Amino acid sequence: MVRHDFLVVPRGGELKSGFGRWVEDTSRSIGPIILLGPPGAGKGTQAKRIAERYGIPQISTGDLLRENVQRGTELGAQAKEIMARGELVPDELMYDMVAQRLRQVDCEPGFILDGFPRTPAQAGWLDAFLENEFFENSDRDRCVPIVIRIGVDYNELLCRLTGRRTCLASGHIYNVYFQPPRVADTCDVDGSKLVIRNDDSEEVIGERLKAYELQTQPVVDYYERKGRLVSVNGDLPADQVAEQIFRVIESHGAVEVKDASHGG
Ligand SMILES: [Zn+2]
Repeated sequence: MVRHDFLVVPRGGELKSGFGRWVEDTSRSIGPIILLGPPGAGKGTQAKRIAERYGIPQISTGDLLRENVQRGTELGAQAKEIMARGELVPDELMYDMVAQRLRQVDCEPGFILDGFPRTPAQAGWLDAFLENEFFENSDRDRCVPIVIRIGVDYNELLCRLTGRRTCLASGHIYNVYFQPPRVADTCDVDGSKLVIRNDDSEEVIGERLKAYELQTQPVVDYYERKGRLVSVNGDLPADQVAEQIFRVIESHGAVEVKDASHGG
C-alpha cells in the first residue's frame, strides 16, 4: 500500500519565494482548477500565481485559439476560416482544441483553465471529458475540478476597470484610483502618455459586465448546484486573494505526494 503524506507549505510572506518544493516535486497532483469571476476580478493575476506556485500550466482558450491559428494546425485552419466569415468559433471546435491541450503531459499534475468554461454546456462537456478520458487511470477525486469564484463588489469593480490607464509606449498599466502615476497622465517608467484603452471605456465595460452576468452566472450556478463552488473575497489586495486561493487548493485533499522521502 502507498503511504500518503501531505506537504507542508509555507504561509504568509514566504508565499512568493517559498514554492520551490512544489516545482521540484513531480509526484504531486493538483487536478484541474477553474477560476471564475467578472472582468477586473484579477483572474489573470491569480492564475499566474497559481501556475507559479504549483508548477502547473495556465490554459487560456483565447491563447489556445491564437496559437492554433498561428501554427496553422488543422483545428487552427478551421477556426481561421470560420472567423474570416465573421462567425464565432463553435464550441465543438474549441472542445477539440481544449481536449488536445489537456492531453499533453504537462497537464498531468493539474492545470488552470482561464476563460473556460463560459457556459453551462461547456462546463458539462468539461466534466464529461475529465471523467471519461483525462483521468481514467487515476484517482477519481482528481478529475473533479476545484472551482474558485473571485467575488468583487460591483463599485470596486467599476473603479478598477474604468480607472485603468495604459502607457502608449510599453503598455505599463496604472489605475487613477488605486495606483496613480506620479505625474498625471504620464508613465512613471518611460514618461510616455497614458491613455484609456477602448476596452476600458465605461461603455465597453458596462457591456462586458452585462455579458458576464448573462453568460457566466449560469456557470457559477452550475457549479454551485453541484456543491463545488468555493468563493474567495476578491476585494482584498492581490496577495491576500492569492493566500485564500492557495488555502482552498491545499485543503482540497488532492494536493499530496505519494512518497514523503523525496528531495532530502
Ligand atoms: Zn510606460
